[in-house]
Order: sequence, then C-alpha cells, then structure tokens
Amino acid sequence: MAVAVEKYRSLQTALTAKQVTLVAVSKLKPASDIQALYDEGHRHFGENYVQELVDKQAQLPNDIQWHFIGHLQSNKVKYIAPFVHLIHGIDSLKLLQEVNKQAAKNQRIIQCLLQVHIATEDTKHGMNADELAACLAHLNTHPLPHVQVIGLMGMASFTDDTTQLSKEFTTLQQMYQQHQHFGFNTLSMGMSGDYEQAIQHGSNMVRIGSLLFGHRS
Ligand SMILES: *Cc1c(COP(=O)(O)O)cnc(C)c1O
Repeated sequence: MAVAVEKYRSLQTALTAKQVTLVAVSKLKPASDIQALYDEGHRHFGENYVQELVDKQAQLPNDIQWHFIGHLQSNKVKYIAPFVHLIHGIDSLKLLQEVNKQAAKNQRIIQCLLQVHIATEDTKHGMNADELAACLAHLNTHPLPHVQVIGLMGMASFTDDTTQLSKEFTTLQQMYQQHQHFGFNTLSMGMSGDYEQAIQHGSNMVRIGSLLFGHRS
C-alpha cells in the first residue's frame, strides 16, 4: 500500500488543533515511505528496532526527530544515543542509567519517557505503579544530568473493549497527574486503533503506524 497522504493531512490537522503530537510509526516500512511524509512537512517518526533505525537515520534528512518506541536493550543504547530525539520505552532505572552514560559520551541530554505496564498482556513491557514511584524517587535524590524524563508512555491491551481501554488509559492518566511535578509534559498513549480514546484520557502524543503506512507483514 502507498502512504495514506490524505489520511495523514486530515489526521495531522485534527491532532494539531488538539495540541497532540503525531509520531508516525514507520517500523518495517521503507525509507521512501518516511520521505513521502517528510515531504508533507512531517518530522516526528517512530521506530522499534535499533538496527533499522540506525540504517534509516543514515539515509534520511538530518532534521527528522526520531522516536525510539520499541523495547530497548542496554547494550544497544550506544547506537542510537548520538541522534535519538525521544526514547519512549524506559522500563528500568538501570536502562535509564545507561542512557545517561551514553548521552554523556555524546555530550547530549536525551529526553526519555518511563513506560508503564497498563495492559492485560504480559508480553508488553513497563513498570508497575510501585516501580515507577521508586524510580522517580531515586532520580530525585540521584539526578542523572544527561537524561530528562519528560513523561510517561503506555500501551493498552489489544482489544475492542472500550471499557477495558478506558480503564487502562485512566490508570496511566492518573499516574501522569500524580507525578507531573517531576517536570512531565508528555503523555504518550494511543495507536491506530485506540488513539481517539487515548486523547480523551489526556494523551498529548500518539504513535500511529498502520493507519498511515498500511498493515505490516
Ligand atoms: C507498532 C507500534 C505502534 C503503532 O501501531 P499501529 O497499530 O500500527 O498504529 C505504536 N506504539 C508502539 C509501541 C508500537 O510498537
């Protein structure tokens, strides 16, 4: 399928009106698809796999703001640290400490989101409420000068059950509000199938792939 440029335009207009940032999730899609939205003026793109992101970053314009939205292994942070704009999936203090170390080597401050586990599936990553609170408390007493934690990210269950989705998004929204005094400004939740509901629950950053780029094989 070709990139849904008309869909992109209407979605971007609607999201801009609501002050919601659109991250176009381009994993497993060719660089030419990214270029097509870049040519429309889009700059925020999300990728899940380190090697794929590194390859695309080298081929595409330098002013793209790359979001790493996948599960990040500590030993791979070094490959994306020179250029990544925002890391969404920080699920442990140890990973955040590694990002801090690699950011320092690159003389950068890397923005990060802490990932919270809100779904029913165990396959999804993220901290629970206690781990999140402990992580933030630790950062408060042991600051990491080369990372800036700007908010939270979550993935809801893969379901059409709007009551269940609402419950999960509410959980994340409440944690976001509870910890907002740590300097949060970004709540990343919502994908192609559930972004409207996520926005109703306070999301201000949505990660949308298949709606723009078609289904992934
Ligand atoms: C793949 C992915 C998305 C985009 O999913 P779509 O359903 O294609 O919009 C969003 N967030 C994360 C973390 C993903 O892995």
